[in-house]
Amino acid sequence: MIQVKGYAAQNPQTDLAPWDFERREVGPHDVQFEILFCGVCHSDLHQIKNDWFPGIFPMVPGHEIVGRVTKVGNHVKNFKVGDLAGTGCMVDSCQVCENCKQDLEQYCMEGSTQTYNSMERDGSSPTYGGYSNSIVVREEFVLHISEKLDLAATAPLLCAGITTYSPLRHWKVGKGHKLAVLGLGGLGHMAVKFGVAFGAEVTVLSTSPKKEADAKKLGAHHFVVTSDPEQIKAAAGTFDFILDTVSAEHDFNMYLGLLRTNGTMICVGVPPKPAEIAAFSLLAGRKSLAGSGIGGIAETQEMLDFCAEHNIVSDIEMINIKDITTAYERMQKGDVRYRFVIDIATL
Ligand code: NAP
Ligand code: ZN
Repeated sequence: MIQVKGYAAQNPQTDLAPWDFERREVGPHDVQFEILFCGVCHSDLHQIKNDWFPGIFPMVPGHEIVGRVTKVGNHVKNFKVGDLAGTGCMVDSCQVCENCKQDLEQYCMEGSTQTYNSMERDGSSPTYGGYSNSIVVREEFVLHISEKLDLAATAPLLCAGITTYSPLRHWKVGKGHKLAVLGLGGLGHMAVKFGVAFGAEVTVLSTSPKKEADAKKLGAHHFVVTSDPEQIKAAAGTFDFILDTVSAEHDFNMYLGLLRTNGTMICVGVPPKPAEIAAFSLLAGRKSLAGSGIGGIAETQEMLDFCAEHNIVSDIEMINIKDITTAYERMQKGDVRYRFVIDIATL
């Protein structure tokens, strides 16, 4: 076994603290890499607090992982020692079901293996995430990272990036579309960058009036403060798409009212409690409410290559791992511009 240093939550009540653990030896199809940076996703906070379902503890969060390869198995074809490498939210899947065969491993019919708070395919070995100094992942779930981009700012692409890129591609959002990005946090700021890169007219819908200047700097064309009834009234019936990245309870019916006829609201945010949706909010204007989960491995590589080509990375604030609890508190308040990234050297 490989000895690893990490930070873990021992249960949903305690703060994260140093915790040493073991990972499997590098198998014939595995890649081991030294973790250099790991992004802090709101899903990390949801999961250590059991917001969605009872978690597997001790829990080492982190699924926006980048670093350099230190060892490869005998049968590994596409990575060598010294390469940059990344891993997102998944580390395995059945690989043979209809969805896996269509490069949709995130929708694996047997359930994909999540990078942490999940079990390996054996059903009994817990997975541990990127708030740690080394990881072992089967080759198919390791991504190539360009040397051209700032490495720390690339880490958030592995979750915030692909989770917003994938639905915008699936619904072919681009020129001629009015796209609203609901919530300007880690996911939201990447959605703005992609929406603008794809040619859409982008509006940020935010609870934080102070983020207007940032939204414009990110490329957004318009900014709506959602607590202002006048601004909401003016935006009614105007968007082809709303990409909802909100992490907390919010009024879906109000936002559905901002869609045009035939418009689509796509949920990527995962509030802890289910939303109440009135049928009238959908049938008046033949609207669709949809959802999207991360993205498949091939599409994640496509997104990383697109970012390298178009010089797109996340706007980050680097933190020492000792400050993770403060970072969570700030994220909970919407005070993150726009992704915390842990410098794993501080571990
Ligand atoms: P984040 O950085 O905390 O951003 C969330 C943003 O939502 C905040 O910055 C805030 O933006 C807005 N917000 C917060 N509370 C709100 C409220 N009560 N009403 C309206 N807006 C509110 O979080 P994130 O990392 O981007 O993650 C966002 C959500 O996506 C989380 O629930 C996360 O678990 C989920 N997620 C889903 C997937 C997937 O595969 N679908 C993948 C990753 C993450 P403003 O200040 O602009 O209002
Ligand atoms: Zn995430």
